[in-house]
Amino acid sequence: MRYGVISDVHANLEALDAVCRQLDAAHVERVICLGDTVGYHAHPNECVARVRERCDVVLAGNHDRAAAGTLDPIEFPFVARHAIAWTRDVLDPAHAAYLAGLPWFDVLDRTTSLVHGALVPTPNDLLHISSPQRIEANLAALARRTERLCWFGHTHKPVVHTWLAGRIASQLGIASVELVGETRYLVNPGSVGQPRDGDPRAACAIFDDGRIQFLRVEFDVSATRRAADAAGLLLRPSAVRRSFEVARSRWLDAVSLARRARARL
Ligand code: ZN
Repeated sequence: MRYGVISDVHANLEALDAVCRQLDAAHVERVICLGDTVGYHAHPNECVARVRERCDVVLAGNHDRAAAGTLDPIEFPFVARHAIAWTRDVLDPAHAAYLAGLPWFDVLDRTTSLVHGALVPTPNDLLHISSPQRIEANLAALARRTERLCWFGHTHKPVVHTWLAGRIASQLGIASVELVGETRYLVNPGSVGQPRDGDPRAACAIFDDGRIQFLRVEFDVSATRRAADAAGLLLRPSAVRRSFEVARSRWLDAVSLARRARARL
């Protein structure tokens, strides 16, 4: 089976269309979407419709749940919260119900699992697999499972993290990887609609018979920005607002630390 793997479309229709054309040209048979189809950009309805018709397996991301009303976006940054409020206003109720019913975690077959955010603690759509501690914890969790590969999204950066007998390695910016032997693989295909690795092109991957190929696809970035601007989504917070947001996120971190400390008692 030849799979296309996409994630973090974030309502960027130009990027999603360009990626779908590329996957069609590559004769992909099934498409997996790791979540965050909406949020940030101006075409949530069109992107949800496209994902529903084109993708065979779809996960919910935190932005999907926030837009569908099943997650309070209180801990989202200012621009993301603003985009969620706008998305809730325009999102077709049938699409909202669809997003609300999606899983955060799925198993494709005996060899492959899928998650939006992280495998541990509990499969979730909120934690980024980015710090060395989280990479190690998630690889260790994968090593205890039967699957040798877990796809994840949420960080918006293509990467391959590997584990073999406790040895961990991470590879960024590679074109392809071959899955071998007992090695466990945590793989992020990157973001279709909002890449955060310095390359503005849409990112996705093709997975076929133990081989993963990473793709970058040009799309009309200025059309995406024009649509976001027209929808009022390109707000940049003022200096005062930024200071407030920094203080707010420190306070939220302190609250969540205190909550976790209490839970351990
Ligand atoms: Zn995302």
